[in-house]
Amino acid sequence: MKDTLKHQGLRQQLVKTIKAKGIEDIKVLEAIGKIPRHLFMDSGFLDHAYQDKAFPIAADQTISQPYTVAFQTELLQIKKDDKVLEIGTGSGYQTAVLCIMGAKVYSIERQHELYKKTSKFLPKLGYRAKKLIFGDGYIGLEAEAPFDGIIVTAGAPFVPKALLGQLKVGGRLVIPIGTDTQTMTMFIRKGPKDFEKHEFGEFRFVPLLENKN
Ligand code: SAH
Repeated sequence: MKDTLKHQGLRQQLVKTIKAKGIEDIKVLEAIGKIPRHLFMDSGFLDHAYQDKAFPIAADQTISQPYTVAFQTELLQIKKDDKVLEIGTGSGYQTAVLCIMGAKVYSIERQHELYKKTSKFLPKLGYRAKKLIFGDGYIGLEAEAPFDGIIVTAGAPFVPKALLGQLKVGGRLVIPIGTDTQTMTMFIRKGPKDFEKHEFGEFRFVPLLENKN
């Protein structure tokens, strides 16, 4: 598990690239600049780790494109000690970004292989999520609700009602909605039954699948 000067140099290039694409939040850029993304990928893709692209990980899933991770994180407006729920732990890269920004992170993954692998891997690098959960993101995590932020890292065919219900008033749900391509969407909870909806550009994610257990 090495992080060499070469990796660090490539990472600074990546930060420049996503900045040029419009990411402004300095804390998000710092997180991308610090996290050794190459260690979250299978060895066959190490050379690609600092390109601004999604890549395959285990169980036919992907590690999200760094720009997408940055875009979603920027929308969440994380403050230290915010309670954040992530749906789709995957490689744990997005989880690490949230941890390094000081959030208390709960993350759900439905593929057991990825859940197991990432549960072992993240603490080794020093990223300590509050809890990693093997389960179905459609139902969220009622036991720990309400959350300051909820981030969905897979394409959702519709907005799971449970997730809206688990937001604090003032909290934000960032979720890509659609089947073939997804519209990045943010809901801000303004009151118990009052949600403000904002739409951003088109993105492409692996699908948020119904629970297979
Ligand atoms: N944040 C991850 C993205 C992984 S891709 C990363 O950067 O590596 C999306 C992930 O969502 C996959 O790991 C997939 O298995 C998971 N997923 C799909 N449907 C899910 C569901 N219903 N509940 C929880 N996780 C789900």
